[in-house]
Amino acid sequence: MRPSRVLRLLQTLRPSELALARERCAACDWPWLVRLARNELGVRCPRCGASAVTQSLAATVRAELPALAQAEAYEMSARGPLVGFLRRRCATLTTSELLDGVAAGETRDGVLCQNVERLTFDDARFDLCTSSEVFEHVEDDAAGFREVRRVLRPGGRFVFTVPLCDAAQTVERFARRGGERVAVLPPAFHADRYRGATILVQRDYGRDIVDRLRAAGFDDARIVHPAATLFGHARPVVVAARGR
Ligand SMILES: [Zn+2]
Repeated sequence: MRPSRVLRLLQTLRPSELALARERCAACDWPWLVRLARNELGVRCPRCGASAVTQSLAATVRAELPALAQAEAYEMSARGPLVGFLRRRCATLTTSELLDGVAAGETRDGVLCQNVERLTFDDARFDLCTSSEVFEHVEDDAAGFREVRRVLRPGGRFVFTVPLCDAAQTVERFARRGGERVAVLPPAFHADRYRGATILVQRDYGRDIVDRLRAAGFDDARIVHPAATLFGHARPVVVAARGR
């Protein structure tokens, strides 16, 4: 782990909540987990820094793709423990960020810019697409889902996390009225460390996210609960499959 990341993690430490568990990190196989605080970002692998969210994603990728070593993968971020896991485990890995002032398909400082609503990749380019906490920020998520399906090969998997509410229906935070998008709920933001800014939350997904994925063309979509315990902070992961 980089020293800056260690320092940032230590800032989250609540000494009274500190605990150690003998549970293997799904991202790097280190045999111990540490709990710095009682929340999903406070549960970490002390070696690679993967949070409970990243470890839930990594565990699901490993379970869903037995032939991961032959997989060509695309991850919608350019650094961090998930990128490290995929780089070690997959045949090839393409990464990107949504960069301000850079055209899609171009790079800045070696980082590829992509907008998931309009990917510049050829059809059927990847066996695996992953994203973590991205789609709740995508304005036209149906377009994004269609694009991910397009760049997946037949039999490919889209494995991702979004904050999921325990509700049947997704709640859109914006609506289109007279050609304009207007907020229908008070604005909510998440931190985007890469851009050093906060980004707007477009919607709160419910269990119907699987119906939204099928409507975008995926043949199957499920919400998977990882087997890992992660101090009780394992995160449900969404898996969508493109049929053969
Ligand atoms: Zn690890």
